[in-house]
Amino acid sequence: MFKEVRRRISRFAQAIRTMTSTFFVLGDQLSTEVAPWPTLPIDTVILMIESQELISQPRHLTRVSLYLAAMRQFREHVIALGFTVDYRRASNFTQGITAHRKQFEPTAIAMNTPRGRHAISLFTKLGVDLYPDPFYLTDIEEMKTRKKRPATLENFQREQRRRLNLLMDGDEPLGGQWNFDTSNREPLPRDGGTWPEPWTVSLSTAEDALVQELKDTHPGEDALTYWPRTREQALDQLRDAVERIVPHFGPHEDAASADNWHLAHSRLSPALNMGLLHPSEVVEAVMTAFAAGKIPLESTEGFIRQVTGWREWVWLLHHLRGDEYENLNFLAANNSLPGSWKEMGDHEMRCLDGVLKHLHNYGWNHHIERLMILANAATLAGINPLELSNWMATTYVDGAQWVMEANVIGMGTFGDGGQTATKPYIGGGNYISKMTNYCKGCKFSPTVRTGDDACPLTTLYWDFLIRNEEKLAKFNRIAPQRRAALGRPDRQEIQAQAPLATKILLQNKKGV
Ligand SMILES: Cc1cc2nc3c(=O)[nH]c(=O)nc-3n(C[C@H](O)[C@H](O)[C@H](O)COP(=O)(O)OP(=O)(O)OC[C@H]3O[C@@H](n4cnc5c(N)ncnc54)[C@H](O)[C@@H]3O)c2cc1C
Repeated sequence: MFKEVRRRISRFAQAIRTMTSTFFVLGDQLSTEVAPWPTLPIDTVILMIESQELISQPRHLTRVSLYLAAMRQFREHVIALGFTVDYRRASNFTQGITAHRKQFEPTAIAMNTPRGRHAISLFTKLGVDLYPDPFYLTDIEEMKTRKKRPATLENFQREQRRRLNLLMDGDEPLGGQWNFDTSNREPLPRDGGTWPEPWTVSLSTAEDALVQELKDTHPGEDALTYWPRTREQALDQLRDAVERIVPHFGPHEDAASADNWHLAHSRLSPALNMGLLHPSEVVEAVMTAFAAGKIPLESTEGFIRQVTGWREWVWLLHHLRGDEYENLNFLAANNSLPGSWKEMGDHEMRCLDGVLKHLHNYGWNHHIERLMILANAATLAGINPLELSNWMATTYVDGAQWVMEANVIGMGTFGDGGQTATKPYIGGGNYISKMTNYCKGCKFSPTVRTGDDACPLTTLYWDFLIRNEEKLAKFNRIAPQRRAALGRPDRQEIQAQAPLATKILLQNKKGV
C-alpha cells in the first residue's frame, strides 16, 4: 500500500515537474528583489550552475571564492523562500543546462538577460528565454531604438540627472554646475593622508573551507573578508560607505598611494556587479545622506556621476556595440600581456610593483591605479588591448566583459581610436609623481627621459607621442602634447631608449 501511495505521489510530482518552468540565475544576478522574482510562481525550479570551465581558469583566488561563496549563500536564501533549487556543478553552462533539462523536463527555461554579449548569445543558442535585465537604471531597449542618443558621457549624465531628478534645481543643476571635476583633482596629500578603514566581514566556516580548497590552484591572496557575499552584508557595506567613505570621495579621486590600497573609494563595485546591490538603492542612500547635510555637494555629484553616469554608460556602450568592437586595436599594440603582470609579483618600478601588489593582496585596484598606472603603462608599452581586458576581467573581483570593454579597449588603451575617449589617457613619470607617492624611493627618476635613471613611463610617454604622430594628428585634445613631443631636441635619444624602457616595464624584478 505504501508503495502504491509513493508511486502515486511520485507520478503526481512528475506531473507537476513537467508543468513547471525553470528560472536560471547567474552568479552576477544574485537578487530576489528584482523582476521577475516578486511574481515568480513558487513551483518554479531555480537553476544555478557552478561552471568548472570558469572555476578552473587561473582567476584570482578572491574573485573565484567571492562568486562561489555568494552563489552558495544565495542558494540558501532562495531555499528559505520556499523554492526548489537545482544547484549543480557542471563542466560548463551548456552541459549544466542539458543535464537540468534531462532531469527536470521543464516546460521552459528563462533567465534575466545576462549582462555581457557573449553570454547573451550562448544562452540564446541554448533556447533560454531572456527577460529584460533589471539590474540597471537605463532602459536599454528604449536607448537602442532611439533616433538621437547622447553622444558623450557628459550629455548622458545630464540626461540621467534630469530623468532621475538627481541634484536638480528645476531644470538646472543644483549649485549651478553639472560637474565638479576641477575641484576633484587634488594630488595625494603630502603626508599621505588619512583614509577610512575598509569595511570587512569575517568568513563563515564553509567560506573558510572554500578558500582552503581553492588556494593551491588560484593566484593571489585570500581577501574574501573585504567583500560582501550576502545581501545583508552588501547593505551593511553600503550603509558604512555612505556614512564613512563617500563624504570624503571626490577631492583625491585622481590620486594614488603606495601605502594605501583603497583611499576614499567606496569599493561597492563587486556588490553592484553581482546584483547584491541595485544602483537605485546606492543612489538613494547617497542622496538621503546629502539631503541630511552629511555629504558635500561636490562629493555627492562626483559619486553619483560614477554610478548613474559611467557605470550605466559603459553598460549601454557594450550593448550598442557589436562583437567586432573587442578586437579593435587602433594603435596596433601587439605586445603580449607580460607574465610578470599576470603573476602580480615584484617589479622594478615602484608604481607597477605597488599596484600589482594591491591587486595580488585584494583582487582589486581603485580607478586611478587601473587607469593611470596599469592601463597607461600598457598603452605606452604597446600591450594588446584585448589581452589586457581579458586579464582584468578575470582577475578583478568586479571584473566582467560588459564593464571592461569601454574601460579598457576604449578609455584605458585608446584601442577603439576615440570612440569612447576624446584622447588617449597617457601620462609620464612626472604625472605619476605629482598625483601619487609611488615615485618616492623608486630607482628611476620621473623627470629623466634617457639614460640609466630614466623612468620608463617618461621615456615611453614621449616615444608614444612621436611614434604615433600620424595616428594622433586628428585628436585636437592631445595636440599640445603631440606638438611638444615633435619639437623635442632629444627625439632620437628618446626613440633609442624606448626598447629598453619597454623591456623594463614588461619584465619583473628578476628580469623575466
Ligand atoms: C582599465 C580599467 C578597468 C576597469 N575595470 C572595471 C571592472 O572590471 N569592473 C568594474 O566594475 N569597474 C571597472 N572599472 C571602473 C572603475 O575603476 C571601478 O568601477 C572602480 O574602481 C570600483 O571601485 P569603487 O567601487 O570604489 O568605485 P567608486 O569610485 O566608489 O565609484 C562608485 C561606483 O561607480 C561605478 N563606476 C565608477 N567608475 C566606473 C567606470 N569607469 N565604469 C563602470 N563603473 C564605474 C562602480 O560601480 C563603482 O562601484 C575599470 C576602470 C578602468 C580604467
